[in-house]
Amino acid sequence: KVQVTHLNKDFGDNHVIRDVSLTVKPNEVVVIIGPSGSGKSTFLRTLNRLEDPTSGSIVIDGIDISQPNANINQVRENIGMVFQHFNLFNNLSVAQNIMLAPQEIKHLATDEAASETKRLLKIVGLEEKFNATVQSLSGGQQQRVAIARALAMNPDIMLFDEPTSALDPEMVGDVLQVMKKLAQQGMTMIVVTHEMGFAKEVADRVLFFDDGQILEEGTPTAIFDHPQNPRLQEFLNKVL
Ligand code: ATP
Ligand code: MG
Repeated sequence: KVQVTHLNKDFGDNHVIRDVSLTVKPNEVVVIIGPSGSGKSTFLRTLNRLEDPTSGSIVIDGIDISQPNANINQVRENIGMVFQHFNLFNNLSVAQNIMLAPQEIKHLATDEAASETKRLLKIVGLEEKFNATVQSLSGGQQQRVAIARALAMNPDIMLFDEPTSALDPEMVGDVLQVMKKLAQQGMTMIVVTHEMGFAKEVADRVLFFDDGQILEEGTPTAIFDHPQNPRLQEFLNKVL
């Protein structure tokens, strides 16, 4: 469970996150939509302390990670994050990318890590790429490796920041399919995306971010078919 209370984040005079409160239940899939610069990435990044919050609290599985003395490494082990740019190690193989953290941090034996890697590659539909170099993969395949790598730490929560927006259109579906499968398997997920079809189909709840605030939230039907706030209506008119 994720409980964010009165979260604020400033960069100098730029008040980027403004008093955001949010509870995400176990197994829930929350999709965040909103215009560029509205603070979506900053919000996700504070959730695993890639950014320090200015004020407010973030309690994840009972631990207040907003405290300065929080064990950040432990927090990050529990929260997988997938970025727009996959951030894989290009000089390592697919398997090495996935096995690195479990071996370094969880001290998993090589054969154990390898069999776990095979299981994860199966989930993302890339069993045959175990020994492949990262450079030999398409963008969509690299992003699926990035998802497998995040899953390798066995996180309770997965954060996705526009995971498909750097991909060629024909690759987008494969990545969304993997995310949908994770959602169906009960993964707790917070997803920033411009893929409104995914939001409609997979989200339990959609949040509309604007100017650092949640201006509206609701079921996909409420948000897409009955938007209330004029800013949301205007945003949907542009993107749909
Ligand atoms: P996009 O849809 O373009 O990805 P976003 O909603 O993710 O936008 P953020 O990246 O969170 O928006 O940025 C929100 C605001 O915070 C912007 O005004 C941005 O310039 C500012 N900002 C983000 N990161 C930093 C930083 N490290 N230092 C200073 N300002 C930052
Ligand atoms: Mg962003």
